[in-house]
Amino acid sequence: MSVKGKTAVITGSNSGIGLGIAEELARAGVNVVLNSFTDSEEDHALAKRIAQETGVEARYIQADMSKGDQCRALIEKAGRCDILVNNAGIQHVAPIDEFPTEKWDAIIAINLTSAFHTTAAALPMMRKAGWGRVINIASAHGLTASPYKSAYVAAKHGIVGLTKVMALETAKEPITANAICPGYVLTPLVEAQIPDTMKKYDMGREEVIEKVMLERQPSKEFATTEQLGGTALFLCSDAAAQITGTTISVDGGWTAL
Ligand code: NAD
Repeated sequence: MSVKGKTAVITGSNSGIGLGIAEELARAGVNVVLNSFTDSEEDHALAKRIAQETGVEARYIQADMSKGDQCRALIEKAGRCDILVNNAGIQHVAPIDEFPTEKWDAIIAINLTSAFHTTAAALPMMRKAGWGRVINIASAHGLTASPYKSAYVAAKHGIVGLTKVMALETAKEPITANAICPGYVLTPLVEAQIPDTMKKYDMGREEVIEKVMLERQPSKEFATTEQLGGTALFLCSDAAAQITGTTISVDGGWTAL
């Protein structure tokens, strides 16, 4: 079955990996719903550009993924959701005994709980349509840990667990649920970590990228948003119909170490 004409909702897709996945799905003929918590002209312009470039229907719907009711409203406003990509995510780095509670709560809400709400709202639509794909953007940190990333690692391990449960609950239906686990991808989320890491280790930008960020990525290259888009598109294909409840690493060998 072709994905052409299906509708995908991609949370947190006005930048980085989410935008890359939206663009790749749109190039394959999938109508896309972009999202973030902001509601700017630039946000809507992104959807317009994708529609013009690919000929699909592209919309931008504002919804804050830290709020359960807004997560569910996003899916309701989309009206249709054949492909759900739970991608919205934030990061904060601090030792556990200094980790601000509000940062912990925000990371768990945006990186984990939002996927529960959007999936709960989207599953009935997928069942009605007789086909569905849930793609959760976890991380190499959904399979391994790093110090000072307690909330992020907990949320990403949590979303891998949630993915397995979703897969079991839909196993007999033409619906799959999988998690993509990227290693480092040079997006705004990662860019934002560079200045602090430079200060912490007294290193220059290139040294931080090579010796700190890509230290655990044996390929010594960032994964790209296009590669993640391609992986998401593969999970929507017929070839992936029996792939469910699992993780696909796009991490240059990180989790092989
Ligand atoms: P990014 O900062 O470019 O994108 C994050 C997106 O989430 C943005 O569109 C942002 O607007 C959105 N967002 C943040 N808070 C939100 C909220 N409350 N409501 C709605 N949207 C919200 O970062 P990215 O690197 O593209 O990250 C995307 C996902 O990929 C995240 O879940 C992240 O954990 C995961 N990831 C990233 C990397 C990496 O190296 N960049 C590696 C592994 C996993």
